[in-house]
Amino acid sequence: MTAAIIDGKIIAADLRARVAQEVARVQRDHALTPGLAVVLVGSDPASEVYVRSKAKQTRAAGMASFEHALPADVAEADLLALVARLNADPAVHGILVQLPLPKSIDSQKVIAAIDPAKDVDGLNPFNAGRLASGFNALTPCTPLGCIILTKTVHASLEGMNAIVIGRSNLVGRPLVQLLLNENATVTIAHSRSRDLPQLCRQADLVYAAVGRPEMVRGDWIKPGAVVIDVGINRIPGADGKNRLVGDVAYDEALQVAGAITPVPGGVGQMTVACLLVNTVRAACAIKGLPAPAV
Ligand code: NDP
Repeated sequence: MTAAIIDGKIIAADLRARVAQEVARVQRDHALTPGLAVVLVGSDPASEVYVRSKAKQTRAAGMASFEHALPADVAEADLLALVARLNADPAVHGILVQLPLPKSIDSQKVIAAIDPAKDVDGLNPFNAGRLASGFNALTPCTPLGCIILTKTVHASLEGMNAIVIGRSNLVGRPLVQLLLNENATVTIAHSRSRDLPQLCRQADLVYAAVGRPEMVRGDWIKPGAVVIDVGINRIPGADGKNRLVGDVAYDEALQVAGAITPVPGGVGQMTVACLLVNTVRAACAIKGLPAPAV
């Protein structure tokens, strides 16, 4: 039997609809319009696509979208000044500075300058530290999406063996913390891990966040495991055009896993939906309202 396909498109659409409901409710009951500011520096084509899609989905959910485009050669001080203005702006509840930033700018300095209460990317060390300490925090969107996708298969992850391959601040590390919060038993693997296939075969839940096309093979997967593929890799297709593949050899894993996310149409769909979730959560927290029902 082949694996069930976890349809990120449908799950993300459902999540966006629930966000829109909560936005309508806080607008009606509290005159609060959550607002998200997205800052793009330079003209990286992939970043431009992400920023456009974030703005469109923010407005579609009934929230305010503020877009700031700065030239690639902007001075770090000017970018920090914009972040300071957004921190002080009462109409802005979430601030996202699109990464990667040009090499001339210290990304860590910029991320650290974002008010933790408005840090909807969850990358500010204050939020990362709170998450690592098991406290309530704004958490990075992609790992949040991974957990939501997994819970469409298993309502409880308690006691399950999970492996997270990759330990970046953006994906791997926060995902580990979220899995611990779900009471899973977590193995963290990275480029120095020994015998990754064998580690993987122990796991009921496999998260691949590596950035290496189709690295995780079918025979690494325990039969029935849930496979969440975070990777987005462009490789040349048979027709000469680039095609998108994940970090998991999908066709092989499909034969063994219990459930699997496709690329595209899996985790990627959830990232922006979770950004909307974080924005409405941040807006409610800043306004002193109870957490919204998303
Ligand atoms: P990084 O490059 O920051 O991290 C990659 C991680 O993979 C590192 O921890 C690295 O280990 C580990 N790694 C590299 N090679 C191996 C190997 N051979 N075996 C085991 N581990 C290895 O990437 P990101 O976390 O930012 O992104 C990972 C992937 O997810 C990328 O394909 C990216 O495009 C995608 N992505 C998708 C998103 C979405 O919305 N779907 C959002 C964000 C990212 P070490 O630490 O030892 O170097």
